[in-house]
Amino acid sequence: MNHATACPEPDITLCEEMLRVLKQQSFDGIGITRDAYGEGEQQAHQLTEALALKLGLEVKKDAALNMYLILPGEDRQQKPVMIGSHLDSVPNGGNYDGAIGVLAGLAILSGWRAAGVQPPVDVIVLAIRAEESAWFPVSYVGSKAALGRLTERDLAVTRRDSGLSLAQHMRQCGGDPAAVAQGHALYPPERIQAFFEIHIEQGPQLEEQQIPVGVVSGICGSLRYRFAHTQGRYAHSGATPRQWRQDAVVATAMLISLLQRKWRQMERQGHQLTFTCGRFFTDPLAADMSKVSGTVDFCLDFRSENRASLQAIDSYLAHCIARLTTRYGVTITPGEQSRSEAATMSTELKARLQQAADALAIPVLTLPSGAGHDSAMFAVSGVPTAMLFVRNQNGSHNPEEAMNLPDLAKAVQVLNLALWNMLMG
Ligand SMILES: [Zn+2]
Repeated sequence: MNHATACPEPDITLCEEMLRVLKQQSFDGIGITRDAYGEGEQQAHQLTEALALKLGLEVKKDAALNMYLILPGEDRQQKPVMIGSHLDSVPNGGNYDGAIGVLAGLAILSGWRAAGVQPPVDVIVLAIRAEESAWFPVSYVGSKAALGRLTERDLAVTRRDSGLSLAQHMRQCGGDPAAVAQGHALYPPERIQAFFEIHIEQGPQLEEQQIPVGVVSGICGSLRYRFAHTQGRYAHSGATPRQWRQDAVVATAMLISLLQRKWRQMERQGHQLTFTCGRFFTDPLAADMSKVSGTVDFCLDFRSENRASLQAIDSYLAHCIARLTTRYGVTITPGEQSRSEAATMSTELKARLQQAADALAIPVLTLPSGAGHDSAMFAVSGVPTAMLFVRNQNGSHNPEEAMNLPDLAKAVQVLNLALWNMLMG
């Protein structure tokens, strides 16, 4: 029975208090470390579970130890709505990445419970395991497991610091990797009505534009060449005239410069895209001041919400390689390509978030997510999904990561009202 007729306020004090305790628990002397399927993550889960029980929520865990904190609805057979994010962090990271998404959900449920609200369907806060691939070289371990998609092969990877397998770590924490590998999901994707996630932006856009909250338009897919190589020929720097050089550095630098120019051009044409060359090096043993460089090793990382934009820059890359090979007499081998699919956010849910923000007079910016999130796994599994970003300072995955509580409060209010209108309106 619903005893409230107006949308209750979310309990932001709860977020503040929990963030303080989480920080205390997981400060490592430099930053925040909540190691996936290790002590740090365990402690965060225990703290969250204790709070959920105090709030009178139902608590369930799946075989991978993802935690489902449930405000029971009137009809428990109907598809639930979920709010979730992860509680692990990178080593020496920040306190907000991941955790605020779980706390935001609890702040909403706490408000609803205090007002005596029973929603028509279960509303579930999902505390997800092991999102950060800094620990295990598999992306979205927890959400994959929650959706029945974590494989035997994934479970065999080892944690970077301990050398123990994901399965071993999971078992040590009380999980059941054998059951995970069978692909059983407590809530299969077709049985979830919607998934929402609140997360810090991790980039500068909201901060630069002085807007507290973002509605994520989509989560970018990537197209990468991790081990690209240019083969030229070493030669004497003084004795080799320009026309006889096969300079690997010049050819590769030209390639990067052409791609950079193309990126700018594509942006002007309305494409959403990022391009990064994060590694670029000559062989330190063979390269020298007095030598024309014979080799360059490098990598290329392209990201976009749109497959067509990735396709376009990839075709241009092939065209450039052909052109530069002829021009500089080098061989450019991009190497094996790896891709991850972009995740589409639900148009309906994005509109609901936008309407709620408008009603609350909270300014929001629509922007893509260049980083991956648990939401991506839900979206590609077919669950209608939407995300809000909270403005944050000093980037992310570093100890200086920052966020202002009033900005988080605004994002939580937006989600709270959108959820209320969706379920109770
Ligand atoms: Zn995160």
